[in-house]
Amino acid sequence: MTKIKVKISHDKTSCINCGTCVILSPEDFANSDDGVVLVDGKASNGLWQKTIEVDDARLTKIKDAADSCPVMAIKFEILKK
Ligand code: SF4
Repeated sequence: MTKIKVKISHDKTSCINCGTCVILSPEDFANSDDGVVLVDGKASNGLWQKTIEVDDARLTKIKDAADSCPVMAIKFEILKK
């Protein structure tokens, strides 16, 4: 199965903790005591980020979460196909 390298970022400053991304992309977003977080994300330049390899199905979930975020707090960049 082809894996796609993708960098995901979550701007916690903008996030309003609506939970949409947790429903749409539960492998990568989760509720926590500190609100919604990027699972296994690391803080960098004010953003929480991670780079992972995903299959098409998971990438679709990430895209759906980014497209559905009401404050555009989720960004992703495909680094390698
Ligand atoms: S969809 Fe956007 S605003 Fe809602 S919890 Fe996720 S990152 Fe935060």
